[in-house]
Amino acid sequence: MDKLELLSALSDDIRVCPLCRLAETRTLAVPGEGNGQAQIMFVGEGPGEQEDQTGRPFVGRSGKLLTQELLKIGIRREQIFITNIVKCRPPGNRDPLPDEIAACNDWLSAQIALIEPKFIVPVGGPSLKTLVSPKLGITKARSKVYRRDGILFIPILHPAAALRSPTTMEQFLEDLSNLKEFLGREISDEEITPIEEPKVAAKEDEDGGTLSLF
Ligand code: URA
Repeated sequence: MDKLELLSALSDDIRVCPLCRLAETRTLAVPGEGNGQAQIMFVGEGPGEQEDQTGRPFVGRSGKLLTQELLKIGIRREQIFITNIVKCRPPGNRDPLPDEIAACNDWLSAQIALIEPKFIVPVGGPSLKTLVSPKLGITKARSKVYRRDGILFIPILHPAAALRSPTTMEQFLEDLSNLKEFLGREISDEEITPIEEPKVAAKEDEDGGTLSLF
């Protein structure tokens, strides 16, 4: 199987995933969609009501805003791959819980490994924390560039937050304008914000002894 076939097989597996409680309440799982050879992936938080009904990501009110604003910066949905950190709707649109995000993480990692994007755009705080570092908050990290495993991450505010506040809408549009600018040129090492790793104090060696890393 080539990579596109593997990605499609992965989506089929995601549609029947039983790995967390969200499987019990979903209508349809939402694996993600778009170009399997995209240079840019967008990763949101989780499906809402419209997404749960249709099995497609970012098709509700905030998805329409994102799609419309992406078009204005020259990005069509067909050019990118768009998905979420959790593939099933949390009931009542509550935030996904840490164990649900963890259960879904292998799906997202497999998608990233197959697509091999140059850029990932975490859309909103939970996606940023999952993909880049739990220490980061979206308010400070938005429109900055991070690098992990050779991929450049450019976080943006979530369109749902933009729909709730005119100030956040302005910042969301500013994030997209900055994104356009970053995507249109080389990004130098000096522009990449270092990631503060959660400190790993010690690690067990193969015999169960403790290997000090510091
Ligand atoms: N919000 C998200 O984070 N993802 C979707 O797919 C829809 C709304």
